[in-house]
Amino acid sequence: MKLPKAVTRVIEEFEKLPGVGPKSAQRLGFYLLHVPQSQLDSFAEALVNLKKNTVLCSICKNVGEEDPCWICSDPERNQDTICIVEDSLDVLAIERSGTYRGVYHVLHGVIDPLSNIGPDDIYIPQLLKRVQDNNLQELIMATNPTMEGEATAMYIVGKIKNALGDGGGPLVTRIGRGLPIGADLEYADETTINRAMEGRREF
Ligand SMILES: [Zn+2]
Repeated sequence: MKLPKAVTRVIEEFEKLPGVGPKSAQRLGFYLLHVPQSQLDSFAEALVNLKKNTVLCSICKNVGEEDPCWICSDPERNQDTICIVEDSLDVLAIERSGTYRGVYHVLHGVIDPLSNIGPDDIYIPQLLKRVQDNNLQELIMATNPTMEGEATAMYIVGKIKNALGDGGGPLVTRIGRGLPIGADLEYADETTINRAMEGRREF
């Protein structure tokens, strides 16, 4: 059986998404054929506007609707403490826990040589500049406790010590235990995140 071109196109687009195999892509494609046109229009519109109506904060690289984002522009937040995370979902998770009052730096990934992702492919140079240009108190390394997350944190700390000298610069800490090895911050519950934040130790 030859599929209509319109269906094949949708299936091909779904296949490009992470975690969607050919079978799921086919199922989704055919599922959408049974959905009312108005719902399809609304789905398409949401996709079209996804990037048009969002910006990256020029300070912390978090995804938001304004630049600077609402966290960077909040006078109540402690701008001297930066929590470094892998992606915006981690910001969401830490914000949900409700106790952190500093600001963030979103890397948008981790160093991963196997996938050809180097330090310059994520927002590490921008972070180093931020650290050099501001008189910071503390840097909290909150990359995930995976191999890549640990390696990325180590790389950043090495670079900062190089740039600012061993004794100089902000206190650098790593979020504490409580998060299992290989865990993903974005799926952790509030209590675990709070415990990890409280249990952070000097890097
Ligand atoms: Zn920001």
